Amino acid sequence: EFHKSKGQHILKNPLVVQSIVDKAGVKSTDVVLEIGPGTGNLTMKLLERAKKVIAVELDPRMVLELQRRVQGTPHQNQLQIIHMDVMKAQLPYFDICVANIPYNISSPLTFKLLAHRPAFRAAVIMYQHEFAMRLVAKPGDPLYSRLSVNTQLLSRVHHLLKVGKNNFRPPPKVDSSVVRIEPRNPPPPINFLEWDGLVRLCFGRKNKTLGAIFRQGNTLALLEQNYAVWQALHKASDGAEVDLVAAVNRMAMDADKAEAAAADGGSDDEMSEDEEAEAAAAGGGGGGSARRRRGKASEGFKEQVLEVLQRHGFLERRAAKMSQDDFLGLLAAFNQAGIHFT
Ligand code: SAM
Repeated sequence: EFHKSKGQHILKNPLVVQSIVDKAGVKSTDVVLEIGPGTGNLTMKLLERAKKVIAVELDPRMVLELQRRVQGTPHQNQLQIIHMDVMKAQLPYFDICVANIPYNISSPLTFKLLAHRPAFRAAVIMYQHEFAMRLVAKPGDPLYSRLSVNTQLLSRVHHLLKVGKNNFRPPPKVDSSVVRIEPRNPPPPINFLEWDGLVRLCFGRKNKTLGAIFRQGNTLALLEQNYAVWQALHKASDGAEVDLVAAVNRMAMDADKAEAAAADGGSDDEMSEDEEAEAAAAGGGGGGSARRRRGKASEGFKEQVLEVLQRHGFLERRAAKMSQDDFLGLLAAFNQAGIHFT
């Protein structure tokens, strides 16, 4: 009856449904965006509270069922159904988003919402429990990651409630959690592509010191290339020129894959591409081509990079324990020295 591939796990427990609606703080003047309404358990409760609900649903059978459910009720005219893949839809204006989403789109959907303008008041979303814990993780938590840092750059996130798998039909394999996301409006005025470039590099090996990460030959070679380009173009690191949508698309990109690997604990033991290239280059023979292809950073540039880390006290720091402000400070320090991550 239900399509596992569409992540169809219907929330059956009316107490949980009610609790989500209560915690969302829906006002009678609100336009609510619901993603994946399914058979409409959440939708019907939202209609009692909101001025209007816009529900985006991919499955035509669910669209029909929802239409039938609302027909002839006093709420019929408050509901607009958009029959579409939410990832392809241009989202309408909304005040609040409430959703029990298919978990396979967790990260792209979250970043799509965070790039949406005008910024909404809050999104109250059901995620797979572990994904939710990564969203809210703080420096030092085992699940603290690039996903945590990027989400928290653009929003405030809070864990609202854990929902056991048996509240769903059919029950999914794992527990779920409801998270509240409040966009920072406006977000910090930085270049988000550079931000993600830095964060990606630091979390590539989140338990390594920054000193070790920035001594990697290929990292330095890339940064020196960037340096030359920025010098030549006299580009200014101005957040205003950067397209938020482009940046969040990159933030969402392979977040799931990388994060899953990190969660396995595997990533810290494996070699990164850069390390592999380095090792190959050091080993001589055919491997030398890796170094030649990308070029080698000059000693002067290496010193410049390490001097920035040293002067601002970052040489021995590790991404796993760095706060939002640490990363902002580090990016500013690098940029000031002409060092860039795009
Ligand atoms: N909200 C309902 C509930 O709580 O009982 C159902 C939630 S179910 C986890 C996910 C719903 O999202 C399903 O109805 C599924 O058809 C729909 N869906 C899956 N992928 C979608 C997509 N890309 N865009 C819009 N809806 C989607």
